[in-house]
Amino acid sequence: MFKAMVLSKADDGSTRAAIESLDEGDLPAGEVRVAVDYSTLNYKDGLAITGKAPVVRKFPMVPGIDFAGHVLESSDARFKPGDAVLLNGWGVGESHWGGLAGQARVKADWLVPMPAGMDARHAMAIGTAGYTAMLCVMALQDRGVAPAAGPVLVTGANGGVGTIAIALLAGLGFTVHASTGRLEESDHLKGLGAAEIVDRATLAAPGKPLQKERWAAAVDSVGSHTLANVCASISYGGTVAACGLAQGMDFPASVAPFILRGVALIGVDSVNAPMARRLIAWRRLAAELPMDLLDKNTRTVGLDAAADAAAQLLAGKVRGRVLVDLAA
Ligand code: NDP
Repeated sequence: MFKAMVLSKADDGSTRAAIESLDEGDLPAGEVRVAVDYSTLNYKDGLAITGKAPVVRKFPMVPGIDFAGHVLESSDARFKPGDAVLLNGWGVGESHWGGLAGQARVKADWLVPMPAGMDARHAMAIGTAGYTAMLCVMALQDRGVAPAAGPVLVTGANGGVGTIAIALLAGLGFTVHASTGRLEESDHLKGLGAAEIVDRATLAAPGKPLQKERWAAAVDSVGSHTLANVCASISYGGTVAACGLAQGMDFPASVAPFILRGVALIGVDSVNAPMARRLIAWRRLAAELPMDLLDKNTRTVGLDAAADAAAQLLAGKVRGRVLVDLAA
């Protein structure tokens, strides 16, 4: 038997999260059964657990879009019992039971072998948010963005994507500007590597189609007016990697930055990213992200406290990452 968070839909349409005891026979089909050591709380988990957006496609559902652990049994030759593995996305925690449980059974194609130099705890201190931050950094670098081009802006700075994007970019030698609504966390953001703090209120309202060229590039996890203002403030030929919607899913922008300044807006998706790209991202995370910074950026909770922490995350009250220890 193992504990799991199970989401169900109440008669009034609200989502109910309960901790239940399950056994192996309850798990969905898949080639690999994994003992989950750690999962995490990402923005999407917050939406699923609170029911604030229709992330969950069928009920009952075990949420948790990522996990790290070790293989218990496998009918696929690529994995054997004891192998350390991690998983992000693929609809896990949305349409296939996810990581907020002592065990998971998934497709072998979805699993990433634990990269050298990484353990399950650190892998999930990074989690989907951190892996997405790396995909954003890779998107900028694919476009040739280099430190000499000028400062790079990270929005949603205190969030999971934001904090890890700051640490990664600073580690690569970029001058990082961090946009946040929590100016009281400026010291934490500077500790991660931010050189300058931007009040997110200055980017949150409708702005002009073209503004002063302030940043060579940006990683945006906020969307809406913020993304529009960021695009309008990117210098000639610069690049924006957009991955999130913390302010909103809308994009009230003009084409001016794209057609007059050659700015590129690159969309970043972590859920269905090809395996080859995931392997590069995880190898780079293991090599480039200082683990001491990661520890300072992470709070650990047990499964019993995960639903409350998910509500705090959606309320914008979580700094950095929330790790869920399935053994706690
Ligand atoms: P977090 O909740 O950890 O961080 C979001 C941050 O955005 C907050 O900490 C806050 O930062 C800022 N924020 C919150 N509300 C607002 C608002 N109304 N206006 C402006 N800023 C706001 O979430 P994650 O970092 O895990 O995820 C961030 C976004 O990225 C989410 O929308 C998520 O869905 C998306 N995402 C997308 C992925 C993909 O595959 N494309 C994968 C992972 C995440 P501060 O307090 O510093 O202002």
